[in-house]
Amino acid sequence: MSNFIAAILNSCTNFTRTLLSQECLLCGGASGHDLLCGDCANGLPYHRVPACPICALPTAGGETCGACLKHPPAFNRTLAAFDYAFPVDALLHAFKYAGQLPVAEALAQPLADLARTRPLPDALVPMPLHPARLKERGFNQAMELARALSRKLNVPVLADAAIRQKDTAPQAGLPWKERRRNIRGAFDCRRNFTGKRLAVVDDVMTTGATLGELAKTLKKNGAEVELWVVARTLEKTHV
Ligand SMILES: [Zn+2]
Ligand SMILES: [Zn+2]
Repeated sequence: MSNFIAAILNSCTNFTRTLLSQECLLCGGASGHDLLCGDCANGLPYHRVPACPICALPTAGGETCGACLKHPPAFNRTLAAFDYAFPVDALLHAFKYAGQLPVAEALAQPLADLARTRPLPDALVPMPLHPARLKERGFNQAMELARALSRKLNVPVLADAAIRQKDTAPQAGLPWKERRRNIRGAFDCRRNFTGKRLAVVDDVMTTGATLGELAKTLKKNGAEVELWVVARTLEKTHV
């Protein structure tokens, strides 16, 4: 091959590489096609077993926790990709408030990998936002995650499974015990889900009060419900 052709091929390859490669969202290093470089992706706080299969809080041997035994929630399983810790909290914040939608794709991948280890549900139900909040933010982060998961798993998204009829005070500003009271009756569902398995999708599970209330509403309409969240806080929070 002449030096001339080799030089052209070389510059084409470099050009293509420049076009396709990007910087890691966390460290700024080269990350190829991905949002995060290999080192940063490996260092993320993946949610490790053993944990209660129902609420995903840590238990010594992966058994169901005392709280779930005493007060079984309306959902029968929680899949969590990460612990709610740095830098996942920062990534979720960027996604939720700065509208960095490509981040949804990266955060959904480990959740999709986890979901593939089990029988897939009939549909994904994104945690609905109240219309007023949707207008304010411009997008529903749970919907974006559900769409990304749907593309990866080929499971349909049911955007209108339930509506949020109550514009509740933000849960984050309330003491844990009041969160359950604040969210009661927040959702309305008019559909019959008898015999259907639904996965409710959300970004973070903290006390599980909001997710539990939506699960209760869907279960009342016949569905078997599980929760899929990107990140789980690890404090023992529920009663
Ligand atoms: Zn990195
Ligand atoms: Zn539990």
